[in-house]
Amino acid sequence: MRTAIVGGGAAGFFLAINLKEQCPQMDVTIFERSSRVLRKVKVSGGGRCNCTNTFADVRDLSTVYPRGHRLMKRLMKGFGQNDAFAWFEAHGVPLTVQEDQCVFPAAQDSQVIIDCFLHHCHKLGIEIRTGCTFDIADTAFDYIALTTGGQPRAESLKWLADMGHEIVAPVPSLFTFSIQDQALHELMGTVVEQATASIPATSYRASGPLLITHWGMSGPAILKLSSYAARYLAESNYQAPLAINWTGLNEEEVRQELHTLFAVHPKKQISSLRPFELPTRLWIYLLEKEDIPLSLTFANLSKKTFNRLVTLLTADSYAIASRAPFKDEFVTCGGIALSSVNPATLESKHRPGLFFAGEVLDIDGITGGFNFQAAWTTAYTVAQAIAQSFLRRPSI
Ligand SMILES: Cc1cc2nc3c(=O)[nH]c(=O)nc-3n(C[C@H](O)[C@H](O)[C@H](O)COP(=O)(O)OP(=O)(O)OC[C@H]3O[C@@H](n4cnc5c(N)ncnc54)[C@H](O)[C@@H]3O)c2cc1C
Repeated sequence: MRTAIVGGGAAGFFLAINLKEQCPQMDVTIFERSSRVLRKVKVSGGGRCNCTNTFADVRDLSTVYPRGHRLMKRLMKGFGQNDAFAWFEAHGVPLTVQEDQCVFPAAQDSQVIIDCFLHHCHKLGIEIRTGCTFDIADTAFDYIALTTGGQPRAESLKWLADMGHEIVAPVPSLFTFSIQDQALHELMGTVVEQATASIPATSYRASGPLLITHWGMSGPAILKLSSYAARYLAESNYQAPLAINWTGLNEEEVRQELHTLFAVHPKKQISSLRPFELPTRLWIYLLEKEDIPLSLTFANLSKKTFNRLVTLLTADSYAIASRAPFKDEFVTCGGIALSSVNPATLESKHRPGLFFAGEVLDIDGITGGFNFQAAWTTAYTVAQAIAQSFLRRPSI
């Protein structure tokens, strides 16, 4: 019996190794189109590979998997983050957990994961063919697993649509925002730890650290918002209003804190107050943006100006001009619709023996190791499904 794994990335290798470990008699071949395998693993996590997350801070999977959270919930019962953690350690990759619950190789180098995969492929006798495209009509294979990753262009999935699979139009996720505001750009490098970014008149909002850059805004809050609103932003041609709450508090809490601050420092100039420990340069920028005199004190602060301050801190408005070309991480939202696969095995409903794993499926996560976890979970599911089908086959 033979299995072809099409795509030599994270999901493809994980699937191949898990399948071959369960079925040593199975012939397993990885077909990789390009000349190098595991290229994304290499560059991931800034070269350190944020390979999973403890999920300790995740109360609801929909907050980390904007697409595919229900299926992930189901499949992670079979192979979740603890299983992935144990798998890597058992296969010779000690891991370490950061304070933010992101998991990395203890060596802080993505190469150790690549070395682990290549070592186990070699040990198990898994063939790796690079520079190779695969013809689905090749009948030499009993099982085919497609692990071709995110396909930014819908045309690359057309042949699967022709087979009857529903394709969810692919659009980018996890990007930063270009904002045309020279004075803002001059604050590049400024970080606000507890910001909330939202798109007014929608329910899209995300909290976390926000980084001001020389093109606009980045950081976890912005990347998360780009993921939640990936399709909305694509449909809006990446032009949309953006509101920032710089405080991590709600409007009423901000009012009260400002009142207290002014009561304690009634004679201080507003420019030197620095509420909510905002970086000074950002606070001055905000005041100047709203034409609020820097020398203002509480004694001569009108109610109207007070209200403007509250709005400035809780719903500061910007315009997203475009999707920025710079990226730390980038994934595709969309792909093979989950309605086209058997949710227990990830086998195609239209072509028996054809399976899908990894980003080619319409599952994607926010940053933090969630995308690799989806690759491990779906790849393991397919490995199990093929192994069970193989072991159940009538013996000749
Ligand atoms: C810069 C960057 C950093 C990232 N950092 C992280 C991170 O730290 N943590 C995290 O969780 N996620 C991260 N991600 C996301 C993560 O890399 C992907 O979600 C993950 O690699 C998906 O795995 P995959 O195997 O499905 O696809 P891929 O890793 O993209 O692999 C697919 C493979 O299939 C090959 N292929 C495509 N079409 C064909 C074909 N027709 N025939 C043969 N081969 C084909 C491709 O060349 C590729 O090698 C990052 C992404 C990027 C771009």
